[in-house]
Amino acid sequence: MRKTGATRIIVFCKDYRCSHNVQMDASRWPDDVRISDVEPRFVCTVCGKRGSNIRSVDVPPKMGTGG
Ligand SMILES: [Zn+2]
Repeated sequence: MRKTGATRIIVFCKDYRCSHNVQMDASRWPDDVRISDVEPRFVCTVCGKRGSNIRSVDVPPKMGTGG
């Protein structure tokens, strides 16, 4: 089994005609960083547009083992 600790995300270019995207690991970000905060900060390396849409790839299980 692979570790599920990392939070994989895909950053999509805001321009749907460009649709450039890149996978990242968001687990290195501090807890107080919200995806909605960093979305506008990305600049597409293909078309140069600022802004992005971020989607998570693996959602870590929220449920524990009890106790
Ligand atoms: Zn783009």
